[in-house]
Amino acid sequence: MQRRFIAGLLAPVLFALGMPAQALSGPDCLRLAYPEFWAAQIAHTGPDDVLVSRSGERFVFDQHKDLLPHTELLNQADLKSQMMQPYSAGFQAAPPLPHQDPGRMRSHAFFTAMYGATLDEVQGHVVPVPWAPSGGSLMFTRRNGAAPALERVGRTLAQDAATAAYVRRPAGSLNWRRVAGTQRLSMHAWGAAVDFSLPHGLGRYWQWSGCSEQGACPYPAKVLKDAKLQRVVEVFEQEGFIWGGKWAHFDTLHFEYRPELVGPACSR
Ligand SMILES: [Zn+2]
Repeated sequence: MQRRFIAGLLAPVLFALGMPAQALSGPDCLRLAYPEFWAAQIAHTGPDDVLVSRSGERFVFDQHKDLLPHTELLNQADLKSQMMQPYSAGFQAAPPLPHQDPGRMRSHAFFTAMYGATLDEVQGHVVPVPWAPSGGSLMFTRRNGAAPALERVGRTLAQDAATAAYVRRPAGSLNWRRVAGTQRLSMHAWGAAVDFSLPHGLGRYWQWSGCSEQGACPYPAKVLKDAKLQRVVEVFEQEGFIWGGKWAHFDTLHFEYRPELVGPACSR
């Protein structure tokens, strides 16, 4: 308990300095990543952490979903499931293992409460974000600093013509829809994800490859050998976005704002 308390105190400082820190607990990573959402104080009660939002909603971190089959866990993820698979920042040399999908587990209750349960509620938080590589704008949530983070990504990528060319053609950000083939709302529904039409055949999605949720899917290893895409992914990660190319159920077009997984003290 004391170690966690100390880590919680130090983490904002380490975040600000960009220094690596000892891995924080899942609840602490969530608290630091979404400061607009949580109440200032989080009750730590050992293994049954309860996180409380500013509007008083209570989220039990561990709802004992661990033993559910993979597909059911995707549908019923609690906050613990959401933090369960570590997301490794930086480019990976090898394809993900089967069912290695860091970030695909999402607590529907949490994201709905934070970003909105209806399109109207979501739109109350969404703003047009200037996207320097295209000269246009992207509709994105402003909650928890997401919109300015996306704008910084665009400005950085636009400084190099080679990386700018990779993200010049956005293929959708805010879009009130479900994940294909499921009842789960997409991160696009909450205005917290953006897709790009990648050049050179690098845009790959597992459902386009005829794969199923249960079965293994041949990973398009080519995408891991592209240095410019590597740079694009790194810039996104530095601003709190994860990349769908790190999933066994790959979606290489897709970037989503998930700072609880890629902050310096929370990526593993
Ligand atoms: Zn997407």
